[in-house]
Amino acid sequence: MKYNIALLKGDGIGPEIVDGAVAVLEKIGEKFGHSFDFNSYLIGGCAIDKTGLPLPKETVDGCLESDSVLLGAVGGIKWDSLPGDIRPEKALLGIRSALGLYTNLRPAKLYPALKDASPLRSDIVQKGFDLLIVRELTGGIYFGERGYREGKFGREAFDTEAYSTIEIERIGRAAFNAAMKRNKVLTSIDKANVLETSRLWRSVMHSLSDEFPQVKYSDMLVDNAAMQLVRNPSQFDVVVTSNMFGDILSDEASQITGSIGMLASASLGDGKRGMYEPIHGSAPDIAGQNKANPIATILSAAMMLDYSFDLHDESECIENAVRKALENGFRTADLLGVGRDGAISCSDMTKKIIEFI
Ligand code: NAD
Repeated sequence: MKYNIALLKGDGIGPEIVDGAVAVLEKIGEKFGHSFDFNSYLIGGCAIDKTGLPLPKETVDGCLESDSVLLGAVGGIKWDSLPGDIRPEKALLGIRSALGLYTNLRPAKLYPALKDASPLRSDIVQKGFDLLIVRELTGGIYFGERGYREGKFGREAFDTEAYSTIEIERIGRAAFNAAMKRNKVLTSIDKANVLETSRLWRSVMHSLSDEFPQVKYSDMLVDNAAMQLVRNPSQFDVVVTSNMFGDILSDEASQITGSIGMLASASLGDGKRGMYEPIHGSAPDIAGQNKANPIATILSAAMMLDYSFDLHDESECIENAVRKALENGFRTADLLGVGRDGAISCSDMTKKIIEFI
């Protein structure tokens, strides 16, 4: 089979890590007899530099014509002082919207070989964990009405959160379906003791839970969830939450796996096309130094094979190769920690993973 993949390498470490994932996909193509066609488009700061816009129309059109999209990361100090609507990060919201991607899947699992890299206490790490965060991606406070106005104490800024029943229902259904394919345990995270949007969220989730009696469903307040993630992460199977809570909790979940450089993500809509990207940013502090961990992006490419192309064996082959590279002791600097020697480069980690495919 032939698959068309749009590449959005972006800024900072984006080009290095996407090149790693492309090399892995090419190896998979060779091994399993598939052909992957790659077309690169501009996004983020590099797009602003060349076109004046963080998300040029050509990029949106290229993604819409592709079978799936692989993104590196956007942003950097150079563009930090630009106004909000032409900042690199705006492109992420724009492309998710343009592609109708409202479900964000963020798996966080502890690879046994990385137990030492997790900051959690050893008795917690011994139990292991393997959870999936389902984050709503196109609604909530990141998309609500915002601006400046005169308030009680003078000029003030405001952002608003709004969620409709339909938006909650479709992300809830995606989460219940994901739970059905895993261990059938779903935790919905909200702030229903304070927020009206959370109260609607909770009531819609409760109605949905009647449709999925096989799933063991519960609610949890977001402040408790932040604590439970470091106290006892093995209690979670699938977690569903709003855009902003999911953004924050998934960074926390990434760190307990050992490094933010390990976490992949898939953004999906109603069709098969998705956008796949590491959850981390453009890491300007290590950009261009061949030091980045490419695993999150390589695992994102594995998710693409799984979710968009139904190439399940191929996806598993990548995951196994990552596991073997880690079991054999290969580590990028982020997985070793400060002051420890023996780190390999981004390109060498990619080569090792390819050797195990
Ligand atoms: P970041 O995720 O880029 O970096 C946080 C820390 O993690 C840094 O120390 C970085 O070196 C390290 N890190 C991140 N990815 C790594 C990897 N693959 N290998 C090794 N180390 C890694 O977050 P930040 O520093 O808060 O943001 C930097 C820029 O990225 C900002 O402009 C921000 O807006 C942007 N950003 C983009 C995205 C995205 O494109 N999806 C997501 C988050 C942040």
